[in-house]
Amino acid sequence: MNEIILCKLGEVVLKGLNRRSFEMKLMSNIRRRTARFGKFRIYSKQSTIYVEPAEETCDLSGAYAACKQVFGIIAIARAVPCPKEKEAILATAKTYLGEALTAARSFKVESKRADKSFPMSSIQLSQWVGGELHEAYPHLKVDVHHPELTVYVEVREDAAYVHAPAEPAAGGLPIGMGGRAVSLLSGGIDSPVASYMMAKRGVQLEMIHFASPPYTSEQAREKVLQLARELVPWCGRLTVHVVPFAEIQEEIRRSCPEDHFTLIMRRFMMRLADALAHELGCGALVTGECLGQVASQTMAALAVSEDAATLPVLRPLIGMDKEEIVRIARHIGTFDTSILPYEDCCTVFTPRHPKTKPHVEEVREMEQALDVAGLVQRAMENRDIVKIK
Ligand code: ATP
Ligand code: MG
Repeated sequence: MNEIILCKLGEVVLKGLNRRSFEMKLMSNIRRRTARFGKFRIYSKQSTIYVEPAEETCDLSGAYAACKQVFGIIAIARAVPCPKEKEAILATAKTYLGEALTAARSFKVESKRADKSFPMSSIQLSQWVGGELHEAYPHLKVDVHHPELTVYVEVREDAAYVHAPAEPAAGGLPIGMGGRAVSLLSGGIDSPVASYMMAKRGVQLEMIHFASPPYTSEQAREKVLQLARELVPWCGRLTVHVVPFAEIQEEIRRSCPEDHFTLIMRRFMMRLADALAHELGCGALVTGECLGQVASQTMAALAVSEDAATLPVLRPLIGMDKEEIVRIARHIGTFDTSILPYEDCCTVFTPRHPKTKPHVEEVREMEQALDVAGLVQRAMENRDIVKIK
């Protein structure tokens, strides 16, 4: 069976020139993600992208699973093409979906006719194929409202396609269509989810992680790299910039009031991410912050941290409950790694009574005691750049 993959485009509201660039980007993303499963012919027609094996050895199941994680595809199905004749369509339905037809108790046929020169209307085609299948599988009941199995027939330009119901896919927009951003990746539950959510809106990500050896361990760093690996099937290839943070934390502890420690530390995270974004030509920062989750995420505290960045700070989790975030973390496969018990630099020197209603002028004043530019420059120079495959 020369089975292929049909990818249905999401957000079809995009029209005109945009639409073409959307499709081109999506096809190149699909090409890259399916490459390790063999050579495929990938082309688009009528709001669908076709992924056809171009050699015997292609791993279609592998490619199908990879496509399910490519943003921009709203639904996906495996299908078999056949000549645009009713007899061929029927024969294909019998061989390709024979097992499913035998197992089901009720069914219906749903046809779509994109090729208007096909001599039957879609209703006529559904009725004819349905009638013939009913005869071939007499145990099957026809149920147009709640069938156990729907046999889909699509008559398109090049061929007719027979398939079982499509499955929902990743949705969103193709990565690359939404610009580029630097995502602040910690070892927690939230930041991998935030990264996934922005990637879903088409944003290509560069990752930054702050590590504080000797206060944080090699395992803590490895955990973050593992999270990045788990994000790759969604976000595409990633680079993690591991920035040393201990000197900054020590300096803050030495020179600033304890209750402002976390806030000033977060401002340094913003400055470093902002510097990286400028260096790489990115247009925004992404964090896993969520309103009210911790003292450093009150509205006043967010304003104070954001003040240290020049670029917009995107916070896709801002209005979500922890439960919703955990559900997504499980869905994308990062949860189990996130809950491994290694320390993060945020847990080093945490103040007993963190300030929840800080004032930006006061904080700026406190930072006068620090060589901000020097600390930022040294940390950036000493970073470690890890490419994740
Ligand atoms: P998470 O579950 O993502 O760790 P959190 O609720 O623990 O989030 P914080 O530790 O206050 O919250 O961090 C808020 C955000 O700041 C994180 O979501 C992440 O984007 C960023 N961040 C925190 N620590 C680091 C770090 N060590 N390296 C890079 N980014 C960090
Ligand atoms: Mg954290």
